[in-house]
Amino acid sequence: MSESLNRVTIDLAALKQNYAFLRQRANAPHFLSMVKADAYGHGNIRCAEALAGAGCTVFGVAELNEAVTLREAGVAGTILVMAGVPEGDAAEAVANDVTPLVYDTASLKYLSQAAVRQGREITVHFKVNTGMCRLGFELDQMAEAVALADSLPGVKSGGIVSHFPEADTPAAPSTLQNFARFKEFAELIGPDCIRHIANSGATLYFPQTHWDMVRCGISLYGYFPEGKTGHEAEMDLLRPVMRFSTRVLQVREVAAGVPVSYGGTYVTERASRLAVLPVGYSNGFPRGLSNCGEVLIRGKRAPVRGRVCMNLCMVDVTDIDGVAAGDEVVILGRQGDDMLDADDMAAKVGTISYELLCLLGCMNSRYYLG
Ligand SMILES: *Cc1c(COP(=O)(O)O)cnc(C)c1O
Repeated sequence: MSESLNRVTIDLAALKQNYAFLRQRANAPHFLSMVKADAYGHGNIRCAEALAGAGCTVFGVAELNEAVTLREAGVAGTILVMAGVPEGDAAEAVANDVTPLVYDTASLKYLSQAAVRQGREITVHFKVNTGMCRLGFELDQMAEAVALADSLPGVKSGGIVSHFPEADTPAAPSTLQNFARFKEFAELIGPDCIRHIANSGATLYFPQTHWDMVRCGISLYGYFPEGKTGHEAEMDLLRPVMRFSTRVLQVREVAAGVPVSYGGTYVTERASRLAVLPVGYSNGFPRGLSNCGEVLIRGKRAPVRGRVCMNLCMVDVTDIDGVAAGDEVVILGRQGDDMLDADDMAAKVGTISYELLCLLGCMNSRYYLG
């Protein structure tokens, strides 16, 4: 089968370097690598294998099917299923030795039954709400849940988990308030439980919250959770792992005063040369970049002209000498002396690096280095 012109390149050496930096920064005995959402678009199997090779033994996914994918690929160690496991999947969770989060008593009961039926034990971590208002037990439900888990055969309480809504803002007071509440929950569980709440933001900015384990996602993939502003001097501590490139399909000469793409939202101001690229919103290149995105060609920035289409877009190369069909175009990553990153792209469309990495990575062919 022919290859796509669009290439997402994943630099596993950069991933491992980010892991080493964060591991050493983490003030905790355990470290969870978050590989949910196909490792934020970077490919969960390849990333988990690379991280395991670098020493990581704990992984996090959103749903059971992601954990099973990793097990079938031979990934060992602990796999936390952050969204928990519904009743119909309890047997599969036991059989695959995954570690679900639990946030209601019903799931403790059906996980126990499934474990007993297979003559096995399943370890669970209690998810508790300390301020995110997402999943989790409330404080007044906790003693009952812990007692139930202790009384049920086949279920082992292995940890307690919460999540910070604002740890990417070092000045926000809520993080330490949430952590104080988390300590109240943690008093209600057994001494062998792993206590963990720190995401990338807390791993970077709140060392006093690392406790028994940190859980890093975006920082492993080379981005600061709140964006790069203020981190200009630290850009070699976290190296972006994803590069996205494509090729020029055609270069066309256009007179002044000509409308470009759907709706004619851009009209050439001068005689122009436009390069047509095989990239559109179906490749995760947001339509919101119409008339404001930028790409690199021959090491120079070329602005997007007109609306981004489903599989195509046009960029202005009037000021870049010699652009021809087949030239490499960089959408994310370095080319020559310049570099485009997911923070810049995200700022233009009102989102965060996380979302763009997921989209670009999951919607294009991936190739691995290192
Ligand atoms: C996604 C997620 C993380 C990782 O967050 P980052 O900001 O990417 O480090 C940690 N914990 C939970 C519960 C998550 O859902």
